Amino acid sequence: MTRRSVEDHAREVAALLEPALTPRTEAVAVTAALGRVLAADVWSPLDLPPFRNSQMDGFAVAAETVRTVPVTLPVSTTVAAGSAGPDRLEPGTAVRIMTGAPLPDGADAVVPVEDTSPGDGADAVTVHRGRVSGEFVRDRGDDVHAGDLLLAAGARLTARHLSMFAAVGMSELPVRRRPRVAVLTTGTELVAAGNPLRPGQIYESNGIALAASCESNSAEVVLLDRSPDDSDRFRELLRRATAAADVVLTSGGVSMGDFEVVREVLTPLGGWFGHVGMQPGGPQGLTVVDGVPVLSFPGNPVSTLVSFEVFARPLLRRAAGLAPVAADSVTLLGPLTSPAGRRQFLRGRLVDGGVRLESGPGSHLIAALARADVLIDVPEDVTTMEAGENVQVWPL
Ligand code: AMP
Ligand code: MG
Repeated sequence: MTRRSVEDHAREVAALLEPALTPRTEAVAVTAALGRVLAADVWSPLDLPPFRNSQMDGFAVAAETVRTVPVTLPVSTTVAAGSAGPDRLEPGTAVRIMTGAPLPDGADAVVPVEDTSPGDGADAVTVHRGRVSGEFVRDRGDDVHAGDLLLAAGARLTARHLSMFAAVGMSELPVRRRPRVAVLTTGTELVAAGNPLRPGQIYESNGIALAASCESNSAEVVLLDRSPDDSDRFRELLRRATAAADVVLTSGGVSMGDFEVVREVLTPLGGWFGHVGMQPGGPQGLTVVDGVPVLSFPGNPVSTLVSFEVFARPLLRRAAGLAPVAADSVTLLGPLTSPAGRRQFLRGRLVDGGVRLESGPGSHLIAALARADVLIDVPEDVTTMEAGENVQVWPL
């Protein structure tokens, strides 16, 4: 069996996946853009607010007319939000105005309704507290001006971004096309959750693990299916996967036992199957099928997820326009051991002052992985580390 370092395998994977994951831009409706990555800088097409308006329900006045209080002013009319209102405020009068309604020229302050009482006569208001020019007035463009940069390319769109784009009247946005990924899991022992387990069976978990990992890195899962260890069935699913996706991820069936369906089907198609110097995730595979790269991970759940983080995540993020995940250097809070000649990715949890091991090295320890929030990256040539040493961690 051939061997490779993590770096060498990552390079081979990148050489095949990068051309398949060339970044592309598409336009989507603002209403469908949540979580997408902005593909270009976006500039405001208009001023926001688009016109001078009231910040309160109250009375639009010239501030100088309410300098001395109490004072009673005639009310000329009422302006609701959504109506154009009068062009001008007659000197010495007030306009009853609602929040968001346009301020007439000549008015430069709003007296909140709670600082007034009805004046004598049919329509008049008595003001009990004066306001200076500009109070409770929202000026045109005081948030953003036409031509201002609203958001730079690369941002992952959230509710507050979409609120801003809707407010300036945009209905479509340029976003990165999401890389299309197909996920195939293998194993005759696997049963979908919700069904009873018969002797020897386990619940399938790598499918959702890989699919969710893709989604959280802005990739789109176009196919998610499960094959028994049966070559014909796997071949059929693979055909569907390569027809639908930019990249196919498989789990299981790559090591040296019997019934290794992925290795058996893909090796004759020119696939590379071998051992990568890492733990977990030693056995790996890489093939191009019908022009589509197929990245094959071992089936142990922790191996599958660590393989995704190490080999697939950086490439999917780049294709999606997301910033790379950065490693951090933190203090190790307890000792650890690691096999010589293998880069080890141990599960850790960040706590005050550093990182502690969350589990042993077993690649079947799924619940322990769920408790972890980082991978502790122990270099190939390191076999022991002591508490207090600095260690590199990758956020999960
Ligand atoms: P394999 O790489 O196919 O030899 O699988 C290694 C181990 O991982 C075995 O114990 C499998 O039962 C388990 N396994 C493989 N695929 C999955 C999966 N999709 N979900 C949960 N466990 C799996
Ligand atoms: Mg298997």
